[in-house]
Amino acid sequence: MIEDILGVARGQVLERGLGLSEAQALEVLRLPDERVPSVLELAHEVRMRWCGPEVEVEGIVSLKTGGCPEDCHFCSQSGRFNTPVRAVRLDIPSLVEAARETAATGATEFCIVAAVRGPDARLMAQVRDAVSSIRDAVEINVACSLGILTREQGEELRDLGVHRYNHNLETARSHFPNVVTTHTWEERFETLALVREMGMQVCCGGIIGMGESIEQRAELAAQLSALDPDEVPLNFLDPRPGTPFADLEVTTATDALRAIAAFRLALPRTVLRFAGGRELTLGDLGTRQGVLGGINAVIVGNYLTTLGRSPQDDLDLLAELKMPVKELSKTL
Ligand code: SF4
Repeated sequence: MIEDILGVARGQVLERGLGLSEAQALEVLRLPDERVPSVLELAHEVRMRWCGPEVEVEGIVSLKTGGCPEDCHFCSQSGRFNTPVRAVRLDIPSLVEAARETAATGATEFCIVAAVRGPDARLMAQVRDAVSSIRDAVEINVACSLGILTREQGEELRDLGVHRYNHNLETARSHFPNVVTTHTWEERFETLALVREMGMQVCCGGIIGMGESIEQRAELAAQLSALDPDEVPLNFLDPRPGTPFADLEVTTATDALRAIAAFRLALPRTVLRFAGGRELTLGDLGTRQGVLGGINAVIVGNYLTTLGRSPQDDLDLLAELKMPVKELSKTL
Protein backbone atom coordinates (compact mmCIF):
# COMPACT_ATOMS: atom_id res chain seq x y z
CA MET A 1 0.00 0.00 0.00
CA ILE A 2 1.24 3.49 -0.93
CA GLU A 3 0.34 4.99 2.44
CA ASP A 4 2.24 2.19 4.09
CA ILE A 5 5.69 3.09 2.82
CA LEU A 6 5.22 6.80 3.53
CA GLY A 7 3.82 5.97 6.98
CA VAL A 8 6.65 3.54 7.68
CA ALA A 9 9.23 6.06 6.49
CA ARG A 10 7.72 8.74 8.72
CA GLY A 11 8.12 6.59 11.83
CA GLN A 12 11.39 4.89 10.95
CA VAL A 13 13.34 7.60 9.16
CA LEU A 14 11.85 10.89 10.32
CA GLU A 15 11.23 9.96 13.95
CA ARG A 16 14.06 7.50 14.58
CA GLY A 17 16.66 8.44 11.97
CA LEU A 18 16.96 4.91 10.59
CA GLY A 19 17.37 4.82 6.81
CA LEU A 20 15.15 2.80 4.50
CA SER A 21 16.24 -0.74 3.61
CA GLU A 22 16.72 -1.82 -0.01
CA ALA A 23 13.18 -3.24 -0.21
CA GLN A 24 11.73 -0.07 1.30
CA ALA A 25 13.72 2.18 -1.05
CA LEU A 26 12.34 0.12 -3.92
CA GLU A 27 8.81 0.83 -2.73
CA VAL A 28 9.56 4.55 -2.82
CA LEU A 29 11.04 4.25 -6.32
CA ARG A 30 7.83 2.54 -7.41
CA LEU A 31 5.48 5.21 -6.05
CA PRO A 32 3.08 6.51 -8.70
CA ASP A 33 3.64 10.02 -10.06
CA GLU A 34 0.87 11.58 -8.00
CA ARG A 35 2.61 10.51 -4.77
CA VAL A 36 5.95 12.07 -5.68
CA PRO A 37 5.17 15.48 -4.11
CA SER A 38 4.31 13.78 -0.79
CA VAL A 39 7.48 11.72 -0.70
CA LEU A 40 9.59 14.77 -1.57
CA GLU A 41 7.94 16.65 1.28
CA LEU A 42 8.79 13.83 3.66
CA ALA A 43 12.38 13.68 2.34
CA HIS A 44 12.66 17.41 2.99
CA GLU A 45 11.37 17.00 6.55
CA VAL A 46 13.92 14.22 7.09
CA ARG A 47 16.75 16.38 5.79
CA MET A 48 15.69 19.33 8.01
CA ARG A 49 15.35 17.08 11.06
CA TRP A 50 18.59 15.12 10.72
CA CYS A 51 20.86 17.55 8.83
CA GLY A 52 19.36 20.98 9.46
CA PRO A 53 18.69 23.83 7.04
CA GLU A 54 22.30 24.50 6.05
CA VAL A 55 23.45 23.79 2.54
CA GLU A 56 27.04 22.83 1.82
CA VAL A 57 28.47 24.65 -1.17
CA GLU A 58 31.39 23.08 -2.97
CA GLY A 59 33.70 23.88 -5.86
CA ILE A 60 35.44 21.36 -8.02
CA VAL A 61 38.46 21.68 -10.25
CA SER A 62 40.22 19.27 -12.55
CA LEU A 63 43.98 18.89 -12.17
CA LYS A 64 44.12 16.51 -15.12
CA THR A 65 41.28 16.28 -17.63
CA GLY A 66 40.75 13.55 -20.22
CA GLY A 67 43.01 10.78 -21.47
CA CYS A 68 42.00 8.31 -18.75
CA PRO A 69 42.94 4.67 -19.49
CA GLU A 70 39.72 3.31 -17.94
CA ASP A 71 36.53 2.59 -19.89
CA CYS A 72 33.67 3.86 -17.68
CA HIS A 73 30.98 3.94 -20.36
CA PHE A 74 29.43 7.21 -19.17
CA CYS A 75 32.66 9.18 -19.10
CA SER A 76 33.84 11.57 -21.78
CA GLN A 77 37.26 11.67 -20.11
CA SER A 78 38.09 8.10 -21.06
CA GLY A 79 40.91 8.00 -23.61
CA ARG A 80 39.29 4.90 -25.14
CA PHE A 81 36.34 6.75 -26.67
CA ASN A 82 36.29 9.29 -29.44
CA THR A 83 34.96 12.27 -27.46
CA PRO A 84 35.63 16.00 -27.83
CA VAL A 85 37.41 16.14 -24.43
CA ARG A 86 41.18 16.67 -24.80
CA ALA A 87 43.81 15.81 -22.22
CA VAL A 88 44.71 18.96 -20.24
CA ARG A 89 46.71 19.54 -17.06
CA LEU A 90 46.21 22.57 -14.85
CA ASP A 91 49.13 24.43 -13.25
CA ILE A 92 49.31 25.13 -9.51
CA PRO A 93 48.77 28.96 -9.64
CA SER A 94 45.57 28.42 -11.67
CA LEU A 95 44.42 25.86 -9.14
CA VAL A 96 45.01 28.22 -6.21
CA GLU A 97 43.11 30.93 -8.08
CA ALA A 98 40.20 28.53 -8.65
CA ALA A 99 40.18 27.72 -4.91
CA ARG A 100 40.16 31.44 -4.09
CA GLU A 101 37.22 32.09 -6.44
CA THR A 102 35.37 29.12 -5.00
CA ALA A 103 35.90 30.35 -1.41
CA ALA A 104 34.61 33.78 -2.44
CA THR A 105 31.19 32.26 -3.21
CA GLY A 106 30.94 31.09 0.41
CA ALA A 107 31.87 27.51 -0.46
CA THR A 108 33.49 25.38 2.26
CA GLU A 109 34.73 22.55 0.08
CA PHE A 110 37.18 22.53 -2.80
CA CYS A 111 37.71 19.22 -4.52
CA ILE A 112 40.71 18.47 -6.74
CA VAL A 113 39.92 15.77 -9.27
CA ALA A 114 41.99 13.96 -11.86
CA ALA A 115 40.91 11.65 -14.68
CA VAL A 116 43.06 8.64 -13.83
CA ARG A 117 42.69 5.02 -12.75
CA GLY A 118 44.73 5.96 -9.71
CA PRO A 119 47.51 8.48 -9.05
CA ASP A 120 51.07 7.84 -10.29
CA ALA A 121 54.17 9.40 -8.67
CA ARG A 122 53.95 12.50 -10.90
CA LEU A 123 50.31 13.16 -10.04
CA MET A 124 50.96 12.61 -6.32
CA ALA A 125 53.76 15.20 -6.52
CA GLN A 126 51.38 17.69 -8.15
CA VAL A 127 48.68 16.98 -5.58
CA ARG A 128 51.21 17.53 -2.78
CA ASP A 129 52.09 20.95 -4.25
CA ALA A 130 48.47 21.82 -4.95
CA VAL A 131 47.14 20.92 -1.50
CA SER A 132 49.87 22.75 0.40
CA SER A 133 49.64 25.83 -1.87
CA ILE A 134 45.86 26.02 -1.43
CA ARG A 135 46.05 25.44 2.31
CA ASP A 136 48.63 28.26 2.61
CA ALA A 137 46.60 30.74 0.55
CA VAL A 138 42.89 30.03 0.99
CA GLU A 139 40.63 29.16 3.88
CA ILE A 140 38.73 26.19 2.52
CA ASN A 141 38.56 22.45 3.13
CA VAL A 142 40.44 20.50 0.48
CA ALA A 143 39.08 17.23 -0.86
CA CYS A 144 40.50 14.97 -3.56
CA SER A 145 39.15 12.57 -6.14
CA LEU A 146 42.04 10.70 -7.71
CA GLY A 147 40.72 7.19 -8.32
CA ILE A 148 41.94 3.95 -6.79
CA LEU A 149 44.50 4.46 -3.99
CA THR A 150 47.30 2.37 -2.54
CA ARG A 151 47.71 2.36 1.24
CA GLU A 152 50.79 4.61 0.98
CA GLN A 153 48.88 7.13 -1.12
CA GLY A 154 45.98 7.10 1.34
CA GLU A 155 48.41 7.78 4.19
CA GLU A 156 50.06 10.59 2.26
CA LEU A 157 46.76 12.32 1.46
CA ARG A 158 45.72 12.06 5.10
CA ASP A 159 49.05 13.51 6.21
CA LEU A 160 48.65 16.37 3.73
CA GLY A 161 45.43 17.33 5.51
CA VAL A 162 42.99 16.20 2.81
CA HIS A 163 39.83 15.91 4.87
CA ARG A 164 37.50 14.19 2.40
CA TYR A 165 38.07 11.76 -0.46
CA ASN A 166 35.62 11.17 -3.30
CA HIS A 167 35.37 7.85 -5.05
CA ASN A 168 32.01 6.86 -6.46
CA LEU A 169 30.57 3.37 -6.58
CA GLU A 170 28.78 4.75 -9.68
CA THR A 171 26.11 2.06 -9.84
CA ALA A 172 24.78 -1.07 -8.14
CA ARG A 173 27.28 -3.88 -7.80
CA SER A 174 25.12 -6.12 -10.02
CA HIS A 175 25.14 -3.53 -12.83
CA PHE A 176 28.78 -2.45 -12.57
CA PRO A 177 30.18 -4.91 -15.18
CA ASN A 178 27.81 -3.34 -17.75
CA VAL A 179 29.31 0.07 -17.03
CA VAL A 180 33.04 -0.53 -16.46
CA THR A 181 35.22 -3.46 -17.57
CA THR A 182 38.73 -2.18 -16.75
CA HIS A 183 38.35 -2.31 -12.98
CA THR A 184 35.89 -3.85 -10.55
CA TRP A 185 33.28 -2.58 -8.11
CA GLU A 186 35.29 -4.35 -5.39
CA GLU A 187 38.40 -2.32 -6.21
CA ARG A 188 36.38 0.84 -5.74
CA PHE A 189 34.96 -0.47 -2.48
CA GLU A 190 38.45 -1.28 -1.17
CA THR A 191 39.61 2.30 -1.77
CA LEU A 192 36.58 3.57 0.15
CA ALA A 193 37.38 1.25 3.06
CA LEU A 194 40.96 2.56 3.02
CA VAL A 195 39.77 6.19 3.03
CA ARG A 196 37.63 5.45 6.08
CA GLU A 197 40.49 3.64 7.82
CA MET A 198 42.75 6.67 7.20
CA GLY A 199 40.24 8.87 9.00
CA MET A 200 39.33 10.97 5.95
CA GLN A 201 35.67 11.67 5.27
CA VAL A 202 34.11 9.34 2.69
CA CYS A 203 32.36 10.92 -0.28
CA CYS A 204 30.75 8.28 -2.45
CA GLY A 205 27.87 8.45 -4.88
CA GLY A 206 26.64 7.28 -8.21
CA ILE A 207 24.92 8.02 -11.46
CA ILE A 208 21.25 7.38 -12.15
CA GLY A 209 20.15 6.57 -15.70
CA MET A 210 22.88 4.21 -16.94
CA GLY A 211 20.48 1.46 -18.03
CA GLU A 212 20.05 0.10 -14.49
CA SER A 213 16.68 -1.29 -13.38
CA ILE A 214 14.60 0.30 -10.63
CA GLU A 215 15.65 -2.63 -8.43
CA GLN A 216 19.29 -1.77 -9.09
CA ARG A 217 18.67 1.85 -8.07
CA ALA A 218 17.40 0.54 -4.73
CA GLU A 219 20.44 -1.78 -4.57
CA LEU A 220 22.79 1.18 -5.02
CA ALA A 221 20.97 3.14 -2.29
CA ALA A 222 21.42 0.17 0.08
CA GLN A 223 25.08 -0.36 -0.86
CA LEU A 224 25.80 3.33 -0.26
CA SER A 225 23.92 3.26 3.00
CA ALA A 226 26.03 0.28 4.17
CA LEU A 227 29.15 2.39 3.62
CA ASP A 228 27.74 5.15 5.84
CA PRO A 229 29.33 7.91 3.71
CA ASP A 230 29.71 11.49 4.92
CA GLU A 231 28.61 12.74 1.52
CA VAL A 232 26.77 11.26 -1.45
CA PRO A 233 26.95 13.04 -4.80
CA LEU A 234 23.92 12.05 -6.84
CA ASN A 235 24.40 12.41 -10.58
CA PHE A 236 22.00 11.90 -13.45
CA LEU A 237 23.50 10.63 -16.67
CA ASP A 238 24.15 13.35 -19.19
CA PRO A 239 24.79 11.14 -22.25
CA ARG A 240 28.03 12.41 -23.76
CA PRO A 241 28.74 12.18 -27.48
CA GLY A 242 31.24 9.47 -28.38
CA THR A 243 30.75 7.41 -25.20
CA PRO A 244 29.05 3.98 -25.26
CA PHE A 245 26.15 5.56 -23.33
CA ALA A 246 25.68 8.42 -25.82
CA ASP A 247 22.27 7.14 -26.91
CA LEU A 248 20.76 6.35 -23.52
CA GLU A 249 17.63 8.28 -22.69
CA VAL A 250 17.81 11.06 -20.14
CA THR A 251 16.12 10.23 -16.82
CA THR A 252 12.72 11.91 -16.61
CA ALA A 253 12.22 14.67 -14.07
CA THR A 254 9.76 12.60 -12.05
CA ASP A 255 12.10 9.59 -11.92
CA ALA A 256 14.94 11.88 -10.87
CA LEU A 257 12.85 13.36 -8.04
CA ARG A 258 11.76 9.88 -6.93
CA ALA A 259 15.45 8.91 -6.80
CA ILE A 260 16.37 12.00 -4.77
CA ALA A 261 13.65 11.23 -2.24
CA ALA A 262 14.54 7.52 -2.05
CA PHE A 263 18.25 8.23 -1.51
CA ARG A 264 17.52 10.83 1.18
CA LEU A 265 15.21 8.40 2.98
CA ALA A 266 17.86 5.65 2.73
CA LEU A 267 20.58 8.06 3.96
CA PRO A 268 18.92 10.43 6.45
CA ARG A 269 22.12 11.99 7.87
CA THR A 270 24.42 12.22 4.87
CA VAL A 271 25.31 15.33 2.90
CA LEU A 272 23.31 14.61 -0.27
CA ARG A 273 24.77 16.59 -3.08
CA PHE A 274 23.34 17.49 -6.43
CA ALA A 275 26.13 16.74 -8.85
CA GLY A 276 26.20 16.51 -12.65
CA GLY A 277 23.20 16.28 -14.93
CA ARG A 278 20.65 18.14 -12.84
CA GLU A 279 19.99 20.90 -15.40
CA LEU A 280 19.45 18.37 -18.14
CA THR A 281 17.11 16.16 -16.15
CA LEU A 282 15.26 18.64 -14.02
CA GLY A 283 15.51 21.90 -15.95
CA ASP A 284 15.38 25.27 -14.21
CA LEU A 285 12.95 24.10 -11.56
CA GLY A 286 15.14 21.17 -10.63
CA THR A 287 17.37 22.82 -8.08
CA ARG A 288 14.38 24.21 -6.23
CA GLN A 289 12.56 20.87 -6.20
CA GLY A 290 15.69 18.94 -5.26
CA VAL A 291 16.66 21.29 -2.45
CA LEU A 292 13.09 21.05 -1.17
CA GLY A 293 13.19 17.26 -1.57
CA GLY A 294 16.18 16.19 0.47
CA ILE A 295 19.26 17.68 -1.22
CA ASN A 296 21.56 19.70 1.07
CA ALA A 297 24.70 20.38 -0.95
CA VAL A 298 25.36 21.91 -4.34
CA ILE A 299 28.36 22.38 -6.57
CA VAL A 300 28.98 25.91 -7.73
CA GLY A 301 30.28 26.74 -11.16
CA ASN A 302 31.39 24.35 -13.83
CA TYR A 303 31.27 20.61 -13.52
CA LEU A 304 34.14 18.69 -14.99
CA THR A 305 33.27 18.66 -18.67
CA THR A 306 29.78 20.13 -18.84
CA LEU A 307 28.61 23.58 -17.86
CA GLY A 308 26.81 23.96 -14.54
CA ARG A 309 24.58 26.83 -13.43
CA SER A 310 26.08 30.16 -12.45
CA PRO A 311 27.07 30.24 -8.74
CA GLN A 312 24.97 33.33 -8.18
CA ASP A 313 21.79 31.58 -9.40
CA ASP A 314 22.26 28.87 -6.81
CA LEU A 315 23.17 31.28 -4.02
CA ASP A 316 20.14 33.48 -4.82
CA LEU A 317 17.87 30.47 -4.72
CA LEU A 318 19.24 29.32 -1.35
CA ALA A 319 18.72 32.81 0.06
CA GLU A 320 15.15 32.86 -1.23
CA LEU A 321 14.48 29.46 0.35
CA LYS A 322 16.04 30.66 3.64
CA MET A 323 18.64 27.92 3.58
CA PRO A 324 21.90 29.26 4.98
CA VAL A 325 25.18 28.29 3.36
CA LYS A 326 27.20 26.15 5.77
CA GLU A 327 30.07 28.11 7.29
CA LEU A 328 33.67 27.04 7.21
CA SER A 329 34.22 27.30 10.97
CA LYS A 330 31.65 24.58 11.53
CA THR A 331 33.39 22.16 9.21
CA LEU A 332 37.00 22.49 10.34
S1 SF4 B 1 38.19 6.27 -13.98
FE1 SF4 B 1 37.14 8.27 -13.78
S2 SF4 B 1 38.02 9.62 -15.36
FE2 SF4 B 1 38.58 7.48 -15.87
S3 SF4 B 1 37.02 6.81 -17.32
FE3 SF4 B 1 36.33 6.17 -15.26
S4 SF4 B 1 35.06 7.88 -14.51
FE4 SF4 B 1 36.23 8.65 -16.29
